[in-house]
Amino acid sequence: MDHAKYLLDRGGKVVVSLGGARCPINCAHCYVFAPGFQFFPSREPEHIVRDLESFGSALTAVYLSGDIEPFLEPQAAVTFLAEASQKLDCDLLFTTRLIIEHRWFPPLREIADRQFAKGRLLVGCVSIPAWDSYRRIERSRRVAAPAERVQQLGRFLTDLRIPTMLAARPILPAEVVSPAEYGRLIRAAAPHSTVVLGETLFLDTDGVLERRLGISVEDSPEIAKMSFFDQEREWKVVDLREQVDTVASLCQKLDKPFYLRSMPGIELIRGYWDRDRLDLNLASTYPLPVPDFEMKH
Ligand code: SF4
Repeated sequence: MDHAKYLLDRGGKVVVSLGGARCPINCAHCYVFAPGFQFFPSREPEHIVRDLESFGSALTAVYLSGDIEPFLEPQAAVTFLAEASQKLDCDLLFTTRLIIEHRWFPPLREIADRQFAKGRLLVGCVSIPAWDSYRRIERSRRVAAPAERVQQLGRFLTDLRIPTMLAARPILPAEVVSPAEYGRLIRAAAPHSTVVLGETLFLDTDGVLERRLGISVEDSPEIAKMSFFDQEREWKVVDLREQVDTVASLCQKLDKPFYLRSMPGIELIRGYWDRDRLDLNLASTYPLPVPDFEMKH
């Protein structure tokens, strides 16, 4: 089977992965466990950056995330971000669900300072899909409790002086994460998050991810390809309107921007981030100055 290729989305963003092996974090919802999933090739960080250079000025943002947790090998993640900040002229995002050791903060701060000096962003995202029931979803003991990861969002803000994103992704059905649990997660993370991200739930048509999550989605959802990953197979695109609305209205009550896709969040930060205040330079976030192109209302 062919490896996945890097795709430039309509906002000029490319999601990259350090690749290497099937991710040992073993999250129940993760599409890498779907039959036929096409992985990115395993390559050195410098090699990935060389490939990204070929997108030229069409490239506006690189998101280090992909099909394996990027900070399993912090040295490779930091090398990639350092190389990208030196060779590419675009915004950089990284995501993690691990706690990054303190010794990696000075090189990350250097990358942040380099990015901001040339008018570009470094954005730190922390993935937390649930509050009380996270162990049902994130099965590896390497993943810390949500409260610890929320503190890390705060450290990204204060120590790295970068905008942050809580990635409450994907938004899961109420039988997996109740609306009350989303309330606890969003209220805890909002003070340390510049933006909150959700994501549409993609399930494989073979039912593997449903079995892993202990759910069954019977009403005929939309079947489609992914727009953000190069994958030959089709997916069930699950419409969880009520859950998404619950999270969106929680965020609105807290005046915290909420998006299903990262690109509008990046655009909002591009327009309004104030590094001195460590916040968006907006008196009120709602109505959102940058709409979410994925929210259908
Ligand atoms: S950490 Fe990320 S890549 Fe790894 S299993 Fe979880 S969702 Fe998938």
